[in-house]
Amino acid sequence: MAPSGPGRVRRRCRRVLYWIPVVFIGLLLGWSYYAYAIQLCMVSMDNIGEQVLCLIAYHLLFAMFVWSYWRTIFTLPMNPSKEFHLSYAEKELLEREPRGEAHQEILRRAGKDLPIYTRTMSGAIRYCDRCQLIKPDRCHHCSVCDKCILKMDHHCPWVNNCVGFSNYKFFLLFLAYSLLYCLFIAATDLQYFIKFWTNGLPDTQAKFHIMFLFFAAAMFSVSLSSLFGYHCWLVSKNKSTLEAFRNPVFRHGTDKNGFSLGFSKNMRQVFGDEKKYWLLPIFSSLGDGCSFPTCLVNQDPEQPSTPAGLNSTAKNPENHQFPAKMLRESQSHLLTDSQSWTESGINPGKGKAGMSNPALTMENET
Ligand SMILES: [Zn+2]
Ligand SMILES: [Zn+2]
Repeated sequence: MAPSGPGRVRRRCRRVLYWIPVVFIGLLLGWSYYAYAIQLCMVSMDNIGEQVLCLIAYHLLFAMFVWSYWRTIFTLPMNPSKEFHLSYAEKELLEREPRGEAHQEILRRAGKDLPIYTRTMSGAIRYCDRCQLIKPDRCHHCSVCDKCILKMDHHCPWVNNCVGFSNYKFFLLFLAYSLLYCLFIAATDLQYFIKFWTNGLPDTQAKFHIMFLFFAAAMFSVSLSSLFGYHCWLVSKNKSTLEAFRNPVFRHGTDKNGFSLGFSKNMRQVFGDEKKYWLLPIFSSLGDGCSFPTCLVNQDPEQPSTPAGLNSTAKNPENHQFPAKMLRESQSHLLTDSQSWTESGINPGKGKAGMSNPALTMENET
């Protein structure tokens, strides 16, 4: 149904407001360009060799930063393929039946050929009421985007986009290049910053740009290095931010390292097999975002035990035979009221701040 007038206006206003952090970063970047390239390099540097070297290195980092930031913002998050959506008949059946075991039975039948291994906390098949689909492994419903996002990591207000399977590599490169950008500025600006305090700079407006540039670069370096370090750790363990806060639940139970394949393979899951693409914001992650190799082949008899189970290239779900087994019957209720929490601390969803993590915006599951 089309949203009513006031609701639509409110949603449009919200959508415009969501761009404020991106515009802020854009303005900051524009100012840093002016302050560094013009005021520091062109106006304040006397040595021509230093000037040329700094300008070349700066523009290289600037280009990589903007490229990866752009791709993180404008790469659409991927949604589950049509195999995961319920058919019209199944939806009707689901609406008629009371919640509980009957619901689960319908979902079990609908998802019997799908490569899904994860469950809700209570052991039920993960189903999204909003999108009316069976959630693929590692997929979550984002309450800001109002969509199910494949391998959702978090909703990031600084890029006004969901970070997930389609753009996680770009997000990592954005963190890496923005950190390098800040460190480079801080390092090359340091001697001029010291001159500012020892009155070694001519009394022009350039001296204030030089001072603020150093403060901003140093401040952002500290916060970016902790965020980048955290995401490096997540990649090395093949975890998303959501999974770091709530361990994935498999058919046999919770396993915090269920998707970890070892350091090298975990890295390749995000960056791909071809090294020439690792440092470029070009999509090279492995897989299709709907199914993921796990390290649980020995523990779950329903997991494929062939190397195909660890083969990370795109898989056709029709090639898999995953007979649905009975779940714990007493714990088969579906999603209860959803909770959500956001990175910015503002909760645009349904309000209950359930976890301490400020970085997340997803529907909660039970
Ligand atoms: Zn959804
Ligand atoms: Zn989102």
